Amino acid sequence: MYALRCHSCNREYDINKPIWRCKCGGFLDIVSDEKVYLSLVDKTINGFWRYKKFIPVLSEEAIVSFNESFTPIVRDKVFGKDVFLKLDYLFPSGSYKDRGSSVLVSKVKELGISKVLEDSSGNAGSSIAMYCAKANVEANIFVPSSTSKGKLTQLVAFGANLKLVKGDRQATSEAALNAAERMYYASHVYNPFFFEGTKTFIFELFEQMNFKLPDNIVMPVGNGTLLIGAYIACKQLMESGYIDEFPKFVCVQSDNCSPLSYVLYGKEKRYSTTMAEGIAIRNPLRLDQMCEIIKETKGIVITVSEEDIKEGLLEMVRKGYYIEPTSASAIAALKVVDLTGSTLVELTGNGLKANEKIYSLLK
Ligand SMILES: *Cc1c(COP(=O)(O)O)cnc(C)c1O
Ligand SMILES: [Zn+2]
Repeated sequence: MYALRCHSCNREYDINKPIWRCKCGGFLDIVSDEKVYLSLVDKTINGFWRYKKFIPVLSEEAIVSFNESFTPIVRDKVFGKDVFLKLDYLFPSGSYKDRGSSVLVSKVKELGISKVLEDSSGNAGSSIAMYCAKANVEANIFVPSSTSKGKLTQLVAFGANLKLVKGDRQATSEAALNAAERMYYASHVYNPFFFEGTKTFIFELFEQMNFKLPDNIVMPVGNGTLLIGAYIACKQLMESGYIDEFPKFVCVQSDNCSPLSYVLYGKEKRYSTTMAEGIAIRNPLRLDQMCEIIKETKGIVITVSEEDIKEGLLEMVRKGYYIEPTSASAIAALKVVDLTGSTLVELTGNGLKANEKIYSLLK
C-alpha cells in the first residue's frame, strides 16, 4: 500500500489522486509499507523497471519506457585514485533524469492525464518532454525567454509546447506554479514520483556491485533529485535488512553557488555563474529536506572551483568519458577531498549536450 504524505504536516492523500503538493503547501513524500525484497525483482527486465514492485505505478500497461537498460559501472583511475564510475549519461535523453521522468510520466498515464506542465530548459525538461512524446501526453514546458536556442532544441524536437517567460529563472518558476493551478505539475522538484525513479540508481548499483554499496557515493547536487532518490532507496534497503548503514553521500556543488554549504557550514554566500549549470540552483525548494538527509546520513558537501571543474572535465574527456561540465564537478571533488574506502562517482549528463562549452574549454 502506498500513500502520499506531507513532509510538513503529515496529512495523507490517496496515491491515485492527481495532486503534487499538500494543501498546506508542503512537499509530498511517498510512503509505503512494502519492503524491498530482491526476490521481487523482475529479472526478465534488464533496466530499472525490474524494480517495478517498489515503484508506485500500479498498472503495467501504464509504463512509459524505452527499455532503458542498466548503465555500466566502470572501474578506473581518476586523478590517480581508484574509483567506480556509473555511466548514467548514457540514458536516451542524455541524462539520469530519464529515471525520474519515466516513472513520473508513467504515473501521469496511469492517472489518465493528457497534458502536463514542467519548468526547465535543461536536462529535466528535455527528459520529461521525451517521455511525454512516447506517451502521447502534451508537454507544456516553461523556460526563461533568454534561454539559448541550442538548449531548446531537444524540447522543440520532442514536440513540447514552449512557454517563454520574461525575467529570470525564478520568474519562470513562479509562472509555472501559477499555471499549475490548472494543469498537472510534472515538476522534477515538487512531484514525488520523480524521486521514485531517481532512487533506482541505488538498487541498480547494489545489484551490480554484488549486493553491496560503495562506501562513498559522489554526486552533483542542485535541487537534490539524485540525493533525495539515493536516500529513499538506501532507507528502503536498510529497512529490508540489506544494508546496515548509509554510504557517505558526497554532495558536490560549485563554489559559485552552494546553498548547502551556506546553510550547513555557514560558508559565505556567493552567487555567480558556473559552468556546472545543472547545479546552479540558488534557492533549491527542497533545501531543508536535503540538509536533513545530509545530517541524518552523515554526508558531506564539497564545493569546487571553476578551475577544478575544468580540470575534472579534461581528465574525463581525455580518458574517453564524454560528460558535460555539470558532471565534471563530481569528478573535480575527487581532487579536492580524500575519501576512505570504495568510491563511486555518478556521471549524470552527456557531453554531447554541451559541445560548444566543451570546445571552448579545450582551447
Ligand atoms: C539535474 C542534474 C544534476 C543535479 O540534479 P539535482 O536534482 O538538481 O540535484 C546533476 N547533473 C546533471 C547533468 C543534471 O542534469
Ligand atoms: Zn501539509
